[in-house]
Amino acid sequence: MTHGHFDHVGGAVKLRPLLPNAKFVMTQTGWNEAAESAKESEATPRPWSMIPQNVVTKDGDAISLGDNTFRVLETPGHTLGTVSYTFDVKDGSNTYRAITIGGLGLNAIKDSNQVNSYIASVDRISALVKLTNKPVTVHLTTHPFSNGLTEARDRLATRKPGEINPLVDPDGLLKQLASLRASAEQRLEAEREAGR
Ligand SMILES: [Zn+2]
Repeated sequence: MTHGHFDHVGGAVKLRPLLPNAKFVMTQTGWNEAAESAKESEATPRPWSMIPQNVVTKDGDAISLGDNTFRVLETPGHTLGTVSYTFDVKDGSNTYRAITIGGLGLNAIKDSNQVNSYIASVDRISALVKLTNKPVTVHLTTHPFSNGLTEARDRLATRKPGEINPLVDPDGLLKQLASLRASAEQRLEAEREAGR
């Protein structure tokens, strides 16, 4: 799990009985923000409940599952507990490094410190895309509308032999990160002007 908002962890309570052997993983700050957010929702028309804290992860952890490894990258910004994961994906005989970025919106920003963390996280992810050894080239986003993931999946279905997998798109990812960074710079200005 990536952070404590209901649209990312609100389903855990339903998944847990269906997947009795599953472990649910998030940063400590993520678990805290989920518990707090669920509690706050009790007084709203759309209450949701959070599962009890399970596995706590932190930056640099490597979670092995079968022959794959999920590397944990704390990327505070969208929320302070936001975490991203990199892992390998396969297309036929080709292996690519993918990322799921934990959160991209500037909708939960509280002050300029948080925006600075956001910008640092975007820069850290951009550096992974620019690596010469095993660069991240696939973005399996938590919000498909944010980078045309659904459309890319549709193009995949009609791909001709020899064509690159449309989900492998480092340039698109860098473009997305640059645009997020530009929005964050603007937001930083606004937060500073507001004295936050
Ligand atoms: Zn969120």
